[in-house]
Formats: sequence, structure tokens, C-alpha cells
Amino acid sequence: MTLSVNPIADIIAPLPKGLLIDGAFVPALSGKTFKTFNPATGEVLAEVAEGDAADIDLAVAAARRAFAGPWSRFTPFQRQHCLLRFADLVEKHFDTLALIDVLDMGAPITAMQARRQRAIGLPRFYAGMCTVIAGGTLPNSLPGEVFTYTLKEPVGVVGAITPWNAPLTSTLWKMGPVLATGCTMVLKPAEDAPLTALRLGELLLEAGVPAGVVNIVPGFGATAGDALARHRDVDKVAFTGSDLTGRKIVEASKTNLKRVTLELGGKSPDIIFADCDLEAAVAGAAMGVFANSGQICVAGTRLLVERPIYEEFVARVSAYAGALKVGNGLDPATQIGPIVNARQLERITSYMEIGLGEGVTAAAGGKRLTEGALKDGYFFEPTVLSGVTNAMRIAQEEIFGPVAAAIPFDTPEEAAALANDSPFGLGGGVWTTNLSTAHRMAKAIRAGTVWVNTYGGLDPVVPFGGYKASGYGRESGTEHLDAYLETKSVVMKL
Ligand code: NAD
Repeated sequence: MTLSVNPIADIIAPLPKGLLIDGAFVPALSGKTFKTFNPATGEVLAEVAEGDAADIDLAVAAARRAFAGPWSRFTPFQRQHCLLRFADLVEKHFDTLALIDVLDMGAPITAMQARRQRAIGLPRFYAGMCTVIAGGTLPNSLPGEVFTYTLKEPVGVVGAITPWNAPLTSTLWKMGPVLATGCTMVLKPAEDAPLTALRLGELLLEAGVPAGVVNIVPGFGATAGDALARHRDVDKVAFTGSDLTGRKIVEASKTNLKRVTLELGGKSPDIIFADCDLEAAVAGAAMGVFANSGQICVAGTRLLVERPIYEEFVARVSAYAGALKVGNGLDPATQIGPIVNARQLERITSYMEIGLGEGVTAAAGGKRLTEGALKDGYFFEPTVLSGVTNAMRIAQEEIFGPVAAAIPFDTPEEAAALANDSPFGLGGGVWTTNLSTAHRMAKAIRAGTVWVNTYGGLDPVVPFGGYKASGYGRESGTEHLDAYLETKSVVMKL
């Protein structure tokens, strides 16, 4: 390990551990705290204030005051200035922010370094959006001389609820549109990895974002999360997480019919045609599922492989999986870090049993790793399952671990049918050197994003979201800002 810092003393100790409400870090009203752990070692990293419904009430009230207060008078240029300053601070402190993610959820440091451009790019992209949000003038056929125009107004107080699998980028992703549109927010970060969001909250204040515009309430889903989704003074919920929780959010949102956008899970197909560049497809498809230990919503977990190359592809992707270095994310040689917690590790292990019971073969991996330095962490081997059919539970349900299910197909039509035979529709991949096949498959796959001869890259400019049970609404791109805006029509008799 080449890291020259003491992770707990140098990175974790200086972080705020309270709830960010109205510009100050405060204890929870109940006085309760919860522990957050390093999944690579099982050690306690920090105790963080545990917010519940009462704290959510305070945070929502602060967000409401800020919405009606000075923030509402910020011009688009002023909001842009805040976002640009914030982006500069994210850039300045990127290495520390990356290390917080490494410690709190286990991401490898090299993978975090690869996210640098995205992390800094998100606030810069949204800074650019501040000054282009605009309504329009409309011709109409009402009697007399009538002038009609539309105004785009911020939707109000946004409740944002995030998962633990990419704390830095998913938090920035939620903050950007809120600040660009002039909304305010209460963020409930995931209980498994709340520390990065708290540091970002500190940086927002340093960037000049007024008190109360962004409030952060760590806590548990069933208490703080539910209270936020249910709150009658929250105008919109932007949720990222599992489809199970997504359904609960929709139910809870009925209190005041708040707007809801959902970024949920997936079981994405990655389709490998026999005419592909095999070496590129093996590496791309392998990292499309194993990156972040498979804890990525768009992980290409179903490898649909054209039959003539099925055996060879499975052998090569298995060899690739076996050669990946699994370990503590602080080690720059690590390619695959730990699973976030014991519960998630147990879930992955139980899916192995289900798969083996269904008759599949583990061509690579298949078990927990406990040797040497890995013994106290939650490590799982990158796994390739062969002999899978699409109807099996391991091909239908999201495992959220480093597990690829390899399924053969014979024709492009069959590949498309298998790809779409899923309750989800978040992502999909196609590996081929035939341009027509690429375009046909891109059109045929019912998913929010299709990658061709690459897999998993995200850019703030590119709309992202799900078909079917992968959610509704889009994040990124320009259109998605509408989800944070109301359109008001003004019809004026001259
Ligand atoms: P999760 O649904 O368990 O939790 C997500 C968040 O919701 C957490 O902050 C949690 O505390 C909160 N929550 C839990 N129960 C709640 C409730 N009843 N009311 C309100 N909030 C509640 O998901 P997770 O395990 O943290 O994350 C993994 C899931 O997230 C996977 O399904 C993954 O595919 C999905 N995900 C989707 C995207 C995307 O953009 N589509 C990105 C990352 C992760």
C-alpha cells in the first residue's frame, strides 16, 4: 500500500458528522448517532448523527425558508457563480473526496481517479444550465389581441434520496439540477456511506450557497427517507435506489401528489456478436459488470453471447475475471474492492446458491474471499456463471454484485427478445463490427441507454434513466431540468 496518509486521522476525523440544517452542522434532535464502516476492513469509520422525521421537518422548513428567501432573488448568473465556485472546490479537494468514497463504500482509488472528470464536470455542466433555462412566447387563436408566454419556475423544495454505491458522483448529480433551477433541497444520503455528502455540504457553504438551500440529513430509509418522501411540504422527490424502495417512494409521495423521478435498478444485457473485436469485448463486458464490484445500476450482468463464440467468450471472460486484483481500495493495484456490507455479501452468496440450484456452472469465482488481508472485509470473487437461461432467477433479478450470467443466442432477433425479457430497462450493450447490426440492436433494446463497443460511460450531457421497472424520468441532459421546473402560462389581453 503506497498511501502516505492515515485514513481515519487525516481523512475521516476532520469531516462534519452532524446534520446540515440551515447552514450549520447540528446533532440529531433525538441525540442518536449511527456508525459507518469501512467495508474493506470492517472497522468503524465514524459515528454520524442519525436524523429522523423530526429532523426532516426542520430541514424541510429550512429549505422552504431558503426557497422563499434570498435564494429566490439570486439571478441565474449568481447561481451559476455559486456552482462554478463549488466545482472549483470539488476539483481542489477531489483527492480527499475520492478517498472518503474509498473508505466509506470500498471503491478502488484508481476507479475513483477515473471519475475525476465526471465529478468536476457535473457542477460545471449544471453551472452552464443556469442561464439557459427559459420559457417562450406562443402564438394563440384566442379572440382579440392576446399575448401569451411561458415562465419556467423552480418546482420548490426537492427531497433527494441517494444510494451508497457511488456517493460522490450520485450526490453531485442530485445537487446540480437543484442549484441550477433555483430549487432548494433536503438530501438523505444512504446510511452505508453518508460521509462524502456531508463534506460536499461543507464545500457548498464555502462556495457561497446560502444557508438552507441544501440541507443534508443522514439517517435510515424507513425513518428519515420515508419522512422525506411523505412530507407534505416537499414538492418533488428525486430518488435513486432499488425498485423495491422506488415503489415505497411512489406510495409515500401520494400525501401531496408531489412530483417523483426514479432512477432504479437493472439487469442489463450486454450482447456480444461473433463478429466483434473479441479482445475489446472481453475487457469491456467484464468491466461492464465487475467494476465497482458489480454495484452499479447499469452493470451489464447478462452477457448474451452469439453461440459460435459462446464457449470461447466464457473462457476468456472467466480468465479475465480470475486475473482481476481484488483488495482494499486504498491499494492502487486493486481493481475490485469489497462489497459494501455483510447484508449485501449475504445476498450475493444466496444468489450463488440459487443459481447452482438452478443448474448453472461457476466458470469463474463464485465465493467470498477471506484470505490474508481480506479476512475482515466483505470481498467476493468476480464471478462468471455459464449454462444460464434467461428465465432463471439469477438472470431476472438484480444481484448487485460482481456476478455475470452468460446466455447463448442464435439470431439477432433472439438476442433482442432475450435482452427485453426483463422487468428492467436501464442499460444495454452491443459488441459488433457490423454497423447495421449495431444500429438495429440499439433500436431494438428497450432501455434508457445503449452502449455500442463500449460499456457504462456516463456524461452529464447525455440523458440517463430507465424504461420499465428501472424508473421514470431522466437525469442528465438538458431536458431533465424540466423535472425540477414548473411551466407557467401567462395569457394577457392587450
Ligand atoms: P435502497 O433502495 O435500499 O436505498 C436507497 C436509498 O433509499 C437509501 O438512502 C435508503 O436509506 C433509502 N430508503 C430505503 N428505504 C426507504 C423508504 N422506505 N423510504 C424512503 N427512502 C428509503 O438501494 P441501495 O441498496 O442503497 O442501492 C442499490 C440500488 O440502487 C440498486 O437497485 C441499484 O440498481 C440502484 N441504483 C440505481 C441507480 C440509477 O441511477 N438508476 C444508480 C445507483 C443505484
